[in-house]
Amino acid sequence: MIEAEKKRFTKDFTLQEPICEEGIEKAVAILKSGKIHRYNVDPDEKGEAALLEEEFAAYMGKKYCLACASCGSAMYLALKSAGVKPGDKVLCNAYTLAPVPGAIENAGAAIELVDIVDDYTIDLDDLEKKAAAPDAKWFMLSHMRGHIANMDRLMAICNAHGLVLIEDCAHTMGARWDGKKSGSFGAVACFSTQTYKHMNSGEGGLLVTDDPDLIARAIIYSGSYMLYERHTSRPGMDVFESIKTMVPNYSCRMDNLRAAILRPQLKVLDAQCERWNKRYRILEQGLNAIDGITCPRRDPREKYVGSSIQFSLTGQDEATIKRFLAECLQQGVELKWFGNKEPVGFTSAYESWRYFGTLPHLANTKRILAVMCDMRIPLTFTEDDCRLILDIIKDISATVLT
Ligand SMILES: *Cc1c(COP(=O)(O)O)cnc(C)c1O
Repeated sequence: MIEAEKKRFTKDFTLQEPICEEGIEKAVAILKSGKIHRYNVDPDEKGEAALLEEEFAAYMGKKYCLACASCGSAMYLALKSAGVKPGDKVLCNAYTLAPVPGAIENAGAAIELVDIVDDYTIDLDDLEKKAAAPDAKWFMLSHMRGHIANMDRLMAICNAHGLVLIEDCAHTMGARWDGKKSGSFGAVACFSTQTYKHMNSGEGGLLVTDDPDLIARAIIYSGSYMLYERHTSRPGMDVFESIKTMVPNYSCRMDNLRAAILRPQLKVLDAQCERWNKRYRILEQGLNAIDGITCPRRDPREKYVGSSIQFSLTGQDEATIKRFLAECLQQGVELKWFGNKEPVGFTSAYESWRYFGTLPHLANTKRILAVMCDMRIPLTFTEDDCRLILDIIKDISATVLT
């Protein structure tokens, strides 16, 4: 019998859609004007960065927004502006991406990792235990890969123990828990507009809060010089007066060019999220139907944005998983694996954040990450592309997974 030709996928897993015409036109106009810096505006002119801040604050239902150079820098400013001091302990879920522990280290703080559970969200029992320690005051929650924990119980724990919540919403821009937007739970929340997230300006970050003192500190930290009056998403000038010489300038600003290409993307963000979810649901259903593969159960209160998908190869050993990944890659399906001993590409497990010294052994996180695969779902993939990817994974699973 002649073996049927193996299916192959040829699209690029890192290719996003182009910037829309409106964004390109705005960007070209700014380039022609040469006025790219956010404070390079006429006295009564609102720059693109200021307008983006107003619009994103409105989208989030928050009072204030600050546009930053990246989400990593926004998280750093959020920690500093919330009041984290060198040596303070910051709780953080152990399943996250390198810029998150990086921001904590940048603030001079110590990290206390919190375990995760089988649906990839933070272990709320472990959080409750660690939140009860007398020196637990700060909590950086990373909604890693868009998986949202039970925010009702999580907020109850924060409130009971006086934990200040800082949300990392790099993968939950546009998502909600029980109708409430992700990023509107914490004292402050940070979003990424890096190319692989939900809006694309190459690099960029957005910080939101309702706290006038926190935003005033964040604006000055971000590098506003004495030009903070030009921000329109800010409290009264009196809030800045007493701190203006007490807060250093860390130069983490966003420029008008990036803000200009983000503003039209914000208008279509919710529609884009729906497109991601259509693709996610096709993949989720197809993957769950394959023997040996399970996608995490998602709480019906979680309105996620499926810009990537994760699944577990439960019970498989390292050699089998490596063979599965290699065969998928050979057929053009690029999966990442959180179980790798060495950090690869964008992916790393908490053991590789060695600058913190020895980190604790978290049995559940290690067990869960050891079999977790990860796939991007760029919107350049059609729904048929998702079906082809499923066919390929299914064929390979049938021969490789035991
Ligand atoms: C991308 C990412 C960040 C940081 O975003 P940058 O804008 O690249 O600094 C933070 N947290 C998570 C979970 C991310 O995936």
